[in-house]
Amino acid sequence: MTDKNPCQACGACCAYSQNWPRFSTEDDAALDLIPAALVNDRGSGMRCDGDRCAALAGNIGQATSCTIYAARPEVCRTCMPGDAECAMARRKFALAVLI
Ligand code: SF4
Ligand code: SF4
Repeated sequence: MTDKNPCQACGACCAYSQNWPRFSTEDDAALDLIPAALVNDRGSGMRCDGDRCAALAGNIGQATSCTIYAARPEVCRTCMPGDAECAMARRKFALAVLI
């Protein structure tokens, strides 16, 4: 990653769908690092406000950060700037697709 990570001025994938930040391969130790208040009622993923993950801080397309970055779910780690999921999310917010 460069020192100018495009994600810090984006956050689109974190607000694309409440079904996005779901848990998958995390073990119990990893899930225990996520504050309970940020986990949804079913325990299946991150709590969302509408489609926006409750752990996302900032304004989409301007300046954003993940407040649990070190403990974020696996799906959040695998989405990379410029990949298909990134493009889909950025389009939702009328942000230019990264190449
Ligand atoms: S949509 Fe792409 S650029 Fe935006 S935060 Fe997600 S991975 Fe980063
Ligand atoms: S946990 Fe962090 S990286 Fe994952 S969707 Fe929420 S704000 Fe984004």
